[in-house]
Amino acid sequence: MDIKIFSLFPEMFSGPLGSSLLGKARSKDILNIEVINFREYSTNKHHAVDDYPFGGGAGMVLQPEPVVSALRSNLNLHAPDTEIILMSPQGKVFDQQAACALSQKKQLAFICGHYEGFDERIRSFVTQEYSIGDYVLTGGELPAMVMIDAISRLIPGVIKEQESYEEDSFYHGLLEYPQYTRPQNFEGMEVPEILLSGHHENIRKWRKKESLRRTLLRRPDLLEQYELNKEEEKMLAEVREELNRQ
Ligand code: SAM
Repeated sequence: MDIKIFSLFPEMFSGPLGSSLLGKARSKDILNIEVINFREYSTNKHHAVDDYPFGGGAGMVLQPEPVVSALRSNLNLHAPDTEIILMSPQGKVFDQQAACALSQKKQLAFICGHYEGFDERIRSFVTQEYSIGDYVLTGGELPAMVMIDAISRLIPGVIKEQESYEEDSFYHGLLEYPQYTRPQNFEGMEVPEILLSGHHENIRKWRKKESLRRTLLRRPDLLEQYELNKEEEKMLAEVREELNRQ
């Protein structure tokens, strides 16, 4: 996948996008990431990219020319299988479903805003607008990194076993079951016996039920959208009964 990031602070990306799994994916050419500083596309003699808002008010607003000129010089704005994504607290809230859909694309571009925001006309050059949550950050760099990380780990070859993300929270609409590793007893806290039994079917059922319990207790909103199969319906009823008895 080709990823182009349009930002005024390219240096922010080198750590998070250069290490760990993403760093490896880049060295294997599974991911090509380029960071473009749109200040270089400013025609202003001081290389300014922002100006005061028309109508007055606090802060500076990113001008359309340098952003659009950077996009035009580095992308085919109408290429199929390309998404031009504007980072904005006013966009759709990014989630695992969006990560899956975007991981199928050939090319992604991320525009990182800064200052008070950007000129409204920049919106006509983007195909999607995403927020990473209902809070306001200084710039779009951290949100773009969050999205790139979540999307990249779904691209074949970035993480080793496909299973390791299919079992993750949200992938199928539920939170993941509790995980344990050695030692078997840690400060008096034991690993559930079933996980030591080697009985794959019982372990699968235990995990499914605990995944339902976790989701019910922590994120009941997810369960409202989740289609339970017969087995899950039964397990959830048992969980509710167990909770009522406590
Ligand atoms: N005044 C803008 C508003 O109220 O919508 C917020 C501007 S914010 C200080 C500067 C930039 O940071 C935004 O243009 C956007 O690119 C990015 N940003 C801030 N919070 C974000 C969020 N929750 N998700 C995605 N991008 C965000």
